[in-house]
Amino acid sequence: MVFNLYEGSIYRPPSEARSLIVQATIGCSHNKCTFCTMYKDKSFRIKTREEIARDLQIFRNSYSYVERIFLADGDALLMRTDQLVDVLDEIKKLFPEVRRIGIYGRASNAILKSVEELKRLKDHGLGIVYIGIESGSDKVLDIVKKGINAENSIIAGQRIKEAGLQLSCMIISGLGGEKYLEEHAKESARVISAIKPDYLSLLTLLQDESSELYQDILNGDFRILSPEEVLYETKIFLENLELEGTVFRCNHPSNYVVLNGTLNEDKERLINTIDSALETKKFRPENWRAF
Ligand code: SF4
Repeated sequence: MVFNLYEGSIYRPPSEARSLIVQATIGCSHNKCTFCTMYKDKSFRIKTREEIARDLQIFRNSYSYVERIFLADGDALLMRTDQLVDVLDEIKKLFPEVRRIGIYGRASNAILKSVEELKRLKDHGLGIVYIGIESGSDKVLDIVKKGINAENSIIAGQRIKEAGLQLSCMIISGLGGEKYLEEHAKESARVISAIKPDYLSLLTLLQDESSELYQDILNGDFRILSPEEVLYETKIFLENLELEGTVFRCNHPSNYVVLNGTLNEDKERLINTIDSALETKKFRPENWRAF
């Protein structure tokens, strides 16, 4: 009966697989990215304080121990700071055992908050923010209608870090297609190097038939990269990253090759893994890949 609380499909980062998901908002306030179909069936709204408090109480009645809570949907960080503080306080009251609270945000939401506001969220229990940077190339961001440019993505990420919150960023391999392969790789590395997130995830572009980008593929305006091209792009991306202790994960079901490590210290090993995958042509088969 707990699951009836959820509206529509629920998405969360892989690392929140064991977390209790709480929908503070429904859908995505932007909902325009050409590659994303996650929230197309939902109209964006912020749940009321009463609705969220009711959900939390029902969850509390159902679960005796909750270690992690994740606030969904797509950009719950959009909520006003006061509203979010109320939610965090309610969580603290009902789930004193919770050790980490995470949230999805868009860089364009985060940039609306000052470092002080973000610090306030941290002081009230927020632990980690997940942001889909997707690309560091302004051209690619524009084409996919992400609604933010690279410089503002950097400012948003740096603000979150400055506030002392953990930050997890995501980049999508192949998002620039063939035309912007190098630019996407190099500019994404530049943006991520400037942000220096705690965690960096690399997913690989996969499209379903309902996305706007899929229509571009059908029209011949965009071509999905081959596994070799994706790995070549990943290699350029890694070569250009300058990080100090960022945990790197490229282990999503969409990826052709699994890569895990800490950057920059594992850079050489990761690049060697890519080189040997390119040589042996051992990639995850297409029919094993998933969203
Ligand atoms: S990628 Fe993120 S910002 Fe873009 S539509 Fe999907 S959920 Fe919204």
